[in-house]
Amino acid sequence: MKQYDVIVVGAGTGGSMTAKTVASKGFSVCLIDRKDRNAIGQKVCGDAIGKHHFDNLGLKYPSGQEKEGDISGINVHSPDLQTVFRIVGEGLTGFMINRYLFGQRLLKDALDAGAELFDSTHVLEPIIESGKVKGIEARHLTKETKTRFLGDVVVDASGVSAIVRNHLPLEIGLETNVRSEDTVVCYREIRELKDQVDEPTFCEIYLDLEKAEGGYYWIFPEGKTKVNVGLGVAAIKGHPNPKDMLYKHVLTMPMFRDSKIIHGGGGIVPTRRPLDSLVGNGVVVVGDAGCQVNPIHGGGIGPSMMGGAIAGSVITEALEKGQPTIENLWPINVCFMKSYGAKQAGLDVFRMFLQNLSNDDLNYGMKYRLIKEEDILKASLGEEIRLNVTDASRRVFKGLGRLPFLKSLYRMAKTVKKVKTLYNKYPNSPQELNAWKNQVEEIFAYIGRTL
Ligand SMILES: Cc1cc2nc3c(=O)[nH]c(=O)nc-3n(C[C@H](O)[C@H](O)[C@H](O)COP(=O)(O)OP(=O)(O)OC[C@H]3O[C@@H](n4cnc5c(N)ncnc54)[C@H](O)[C@@H]3O)c2cc1C
Repeated sequence: MKQYDVIVVGAGTGGSMTAKTVASKGFSVCLIDRKDRNAIGQKVCGDAIGKHHFDNLGLKYPSGQEKEGDISGINVHSPDLQTVFRIVGEGLTGFMINRYLFGQRLLKDALDAGAELFDSTHVLEPIIESGKVKGIEARHLTKETKTRFLGDVVVDASGVSAIVRNHLPLEIGLETNVRSEDTVVCYREIRELKDQVDEPTFCEIYLDLEKAEGGYYWIFPEGKTKVNVGLGVAAIKGHPNPKDMLYKHVLTMPMFRDSKIIHGGGGIVPTRRPLDSLVGNGVVVVGDAGCQVNPIHGGGIGPSMMGGAIAGSVITEALEKGQPTIENLWPINVCFMKSYGAKQAGLDVFRMFLQNLSNDDLNYGMKYRLIKEEDILKASLGEEIRLNVTDASRRVFKGLGRLPFLKSLYRMAKTVKKVKTLYNKYPNSPQELNAWKNQVEEIFAYIGRTL
């Protein structure tokens, strides 16, 4: 048996950031991952991250081998490829990173701060006594030994597998189940091209609800002749295999002729608003395990680190008070919801709207710029969705018999506002959670019926 102040399950971007934040305040932290130390950081990913995350978290920008390229903007293509939204601006400059080396850097930061790593250790389930999470049970993957780790707080940062969260009883008060239709299944490859890409600092996103149902496909350059190319589909029953779709519709593009595969793999991204509560008695959830991901583009590296930093600092305050009770951990919810969760919830509404459109809706919507390019950037970052419906476009849509689409667009923008207002009034205590949750559920049930 081992005893720590804090147990962090998962040494990904969220877990390493949590462990670093807590350990740097002098508390004992163990960081447990089923991967071998040298494999931590290996993750199938689009490898793109905004510069603002580094600025906000005080992290050094990637450089040397850790940086695969710079991002200066995004081109978003309509399904018929006739319209391209060229989006540039503050929130979109960033980096293509070597995900493995970046993960190794975050791990090193956590260990340098004093966290103790248990690698090749698979967490099996939480230990729960008297309605409180007291620790976890884990098995070493090569020695086959089982160990009980006890701690004042257990942080589930195990990514989409959410090993702790999934085993929690109802009384802990956390949602354990994330609907599969609120996730996107992806397949991506890193490929070496024969020729140079046209714009090595521009990420290309292709919206196409037939080729990538409920998701999109992407081509992100990693330097001049290497790209990260992938496709995601919403995980609804009977969804197509994203690898088949990538091979059929994307890798057949002329730019991939004679290209060589460097790495291929699949993964799942949660694309909904964050869990209604990220804390329970003795437990905190961070990163993909808590659905801290941008629902529109699926970016979760930045939000998971932000979630880890918030969780880490509130946990240390609670430990300093000597009582990591649910009341003392509650500021994690309040702080995350106000800084990012409200934006995420608004984007969740936008995501559901987009997933219900047809390719024709998207083609017309983009052609007539119902949302302007400069507003798309703000919208994708969770700012207000400003519509650009002019008399001319209204006449065109009327002529095409597509007025219901415009109405639904207005309804969506109104609902986004409503949801964000509700998240900005996130309850200050656990006792008020149920009443707030009822209001959230009411809005999302309405969205299901109307968008
Ligand atoms: C195909 C794809 C493309 C993506 N593209 C982007 C992108 O371009 N930009 C972006 O920002 N985000 C992207 N994301 C999302 C991003 O990768 C995640 O949101 C982010 O990595 C979440 O970090 P995390 O720390 O929560 O989880 P992870 O990074 O998944 O870390 C979880 C850790 O927990 C460990 N673990 C899991 N279960 C156990 C267990 N039982 N016992 C012990 N350890 C365990 C794992 O080994 C892993 O190290 C993409 C995701 C996918 C799948």
